[in-house]
Amino acid sequence: MDRETLLARGRVPPLDRATIRPYLDATPGPTFYQRTAHPVGLEAERVVGELEGGHAVLFASGTGAVTSLLLAVLAPGATVAIAEGGYYGTVGLLRQELSRWGLELVTFDQTGPPPAADLVWLEPCSNPLMTFPDLDAAVAKAHADGALVVVDNTVLSPLLLRPLEHGADFVLHSGTKILAGHHDALIGVISCARPESAARLTAFRTTTGIVAAPDPAWLLLRGLKTLALRVERQSASALELAHRLVDHPAVENVRYPGLVDPVAARYVSAFGPLLSFDVADPERVERSLRVIENATSLGGVASTLEARARWEGDRVPPGLLRLSVGLEAVEDLWADLTQALDA
Ligand code: PLP
Repeated sequence: MDRETLLARGRVPPLDRATIRPYLDATPGPTFYQRTAHPVGLEAERVVGELEGGHAVLFASGTGAVTSLLLAVLAPGATVAIAEGGYYGTVGLLRQELSRWGLELVTFDQTGPPPAADLVWLEPCSNPLMTFPDLDAAVAKAHADGALVVVDNTVLSPLLLRPLEHGADFVLHSGTKILAGHHDALIGVISCARPESAARLTAFRTTTGIVAAPDPAWLLLRGLKTLALRVERQSASALELAHRLVDHPAVENVRYPGLVDPVAARYVSAFGPLLSFDVADPERVERSLRVIENATSLGGVASTLEARARWEGDRVPPGLLRLSVGLEAVEDLWADLTQALDA
């Protein structure tokens, strides 16, 4: 069944918030206690798993999913090679917290081969520097070195890229972003190539309590119904705006793989909602916006833009603005961008 059909068919199950269910014949069922499993969560895992072609496990947030994966799968002393310019929160988590538990971090340019490590972390359309790895080559090299491969697929979604089909061991999503899609649910999900990995992550989740509650799981399922339409529209508008920004005199370094990246074009037919570019005075642009929200996050129905140096310091150019393109009319977005850039 085509993935668009899979998503559109049927209804989202009722929002069942029960934390307990009575035992049957003195035997606890699979959803006997919400921290172990609950019906809406199981349905969300079924749908995401089918979308990715793997076995999905929900977590309390994308970051909760990252933490769980690193702690459940790796041993103290393990080395994680992570793409430079990828999501700063993952790098920060390793630097600030998990280093105390003996996990070592190395960064590398993901447009080239990954270094030897225990786990290689890739991020196609990396947030916010928008680099794209040669996925097949990177997975082959990592596996030859005995490393596991995680792909953070938050920006593209499984409708544009299914990393498990390219040999990745795990695919991670901040479901908070394009999967749920409406800026109203915090949730994370990991899809595993192997069922035993999903069982391990589920057990870790139950033990640590890094669980997704029924409400965000329900919103995720509801959001997925329109994922195909949203991804298509957001990608088309992002490409159009990227082309126009290239010609704007106040803008430099427009980063969008749909513009120039032949490697990305081998893997995806559209490039998602996210792009970044540099300006001389990012705060002035932020203050001048009228339609696009000056807010963080990405992948939602409302376009958001922010200066990333605020959070990432010198990991990014000082004037870098990250734009996540939503569902507004592209001419309204362009009019807002130009008036803010010309302000
Ligand atoms: N991965 C990427 C690429 C992200 O952009 C984010 C959040 O911005 C995360 C992971 C973390 O997700 P969450 O905010 O749901 O914890």
